[in-house]
Amino acid sequence: MPAGDSFFIATPIFYVNDVPHIGHAYTEVAADVLARWHRQRGDDAWLLTGTDEHGQKILRTATSHGVTPQEWADKLVTESWKPLLKTVDIANDDFIRTTDARHEAGVQKFLQKLYDDGFIYQGEFEGFYCVGCEEYKQPSDLVPGTGAYEGEQVCAIHSIPVEVLQESNYFFRMSDFEQRLLDLYEAQPDFVQPDSVRNEVVSFVKQGLRDLSISRQSFDWGVKVPWDEKHVVYVWFDALLNYVTAIGYGVDDDEFRRRWPAVQLVGKDIVRFHAVIWPAMLMAAGLPVPKNVFGHGWLLVGGEKMSKSKLTGIAPQQITDVFGADAFRYYFMRAITFGQDGNFSWEDIAARYQAELANGFGNLASRVVAMITRYFDGTVPVAGDLTEADLAVRETELRVTAEADAAIDRFAINEALASIWQLVDQLNGYITEQEPWAIAKDSSQRERLATVLATALRGLGTLTVLLSPFIPTATHTLWQSIGQGELTSQPVDRAAEWSSAPEVQPLAAGLFPRIEQPEPAA
Ligand SMILES: [Zn+2]
Repeated sequence: MPAGDSFFIATPIFYVNDVPHIGHAYTEVAADVLARWHRQRGDDAWLLTGTDEHGQKILRTATSHGVTPQEWADKLVTESWKPLLKTVDIANDDFIRTTDARHEAGVQKFLQKLYDDGFIYQGEFEGFYCVGCEEYKQPSDLVPGTGAYEGEQVCAIHSIPVEVLQESNYFFRMSDFEQRLLDLYEAQPDFVQPDSVRNEVVSFVKQGLRDLSISRQSFDWGVKVPWDEKHVVYVWFDALLNYVTAIGYGVDDDEFRRRWPAVQLVGKDIVRFHAVIWPAMLMAAGLPVPKNVFGHGWLLVGGEKMSKSKLTGIAPQQITDVFGADAFRYYFMRAITFGQDGNFSWEDIAARYQAELANGFGNLASRVVAMITRYFDGTVPVAGDLTEADLAVRETELRVTAEADAAIDRFAINEALASIWQLVDQLNGYITEQEPWAIAKDSSQRERLATVLATALRGLGTLTVLLSPFIPTATHTLWQSIGQGELTSQPVDRAAEWSSAPEVQPLAAGLFPRIEQPEPAA
């Protein structure tokens, strides 16, 4: 992808039924790292996130708290969801709420177009409905209940009984799109990623698609169907449209053409909505499908899925209070292969914090800046003749930059960090071998000392540029000490071309200070 391209990336919008857990923060951070990388490469990047606020479940939760659903949504957005973005340092360009007027108007416009074009009809429907999933379930999606629900059939995801609903609904002719979807997966093999998720989607569609019930009459918390206001739009149909209503669908054609189509990151449990229903809706409306739908894995804690419905959630702030936002971002992007499930543990994050961030990168930065301050009074030294070891550092800077850039294009975020970390390790090894503190004792080796510290500083600056999408706070601090201009305007795909300030400024404190207590008090 050449620099300057449009790169619109969207997270799923999060259901305001509950408060955020680390699974939500994980999706946000991944999308933010990708957006920051592209932005810093010169692409026209745009990161969208937001909240999903309609549906029967929200209505019930609000009622049980004695407030209106709008009050409930406002409270959760203000007190929980927007603060989450601050907690993990997300630089989103927009935040859409499905109760925004711009969204509701866009949903109605989209729906009316599909109705006028004959993709929507009225029919009778009866089925098993899970209010947790906000969808009708096939009998094969149900499992025998346990405990209080012994003897009943329950939703396999939520472990709660399903309801038998019967209503006159509007239906979307999704079955018309079965073959076109299969053709899409065939023609564009990277449309759904990773492969494991793609295979699941393909075999699901091959079993045959049924038309989708897209309206409800039994409650009224939703967008009204424009030609029949007794109905509200099915919450998923409503929610999926946020990706286009946020960028001017039906209102601002220039903005829409500039941004669409999107790269979409979703948890693998909601891939079917994004890789089957959503592209079918877009095809019906005559719009391009997303560039990619990437289904990432689940976070496991003690082997159990983090979920909004089971109470195993850890609040992101519990982790950032101890380690900081940078460490949160680094840990989840590094320790988990993006696309696969990954296990979180306090021991693991504490160990990586100490070994990789504090001792690996932080200590490297402190040593290089301190030695230039001590031996050259802070003036950045000029390199003389280069040895093989010096040249090897330069080669690694260029190689890992190219590798990381290519990995980001493949959504292999953890591989990008692993490549960049080769430079951290090489620079630490280089300093240990070159022993600048020993060279400094011999005044006849002044030029060699300058070359070693100039080489180390060049490598450190390249690292600062490469790491800024991942750990924006620490790299910003370090850049204040060694760099020139704005860190975020340094082209990340040409990181080695950064220019240093004429003098380095001492670092006031370590970039990653020692953690006294690696777990929160119980
Ligand atoms: Zn369910």
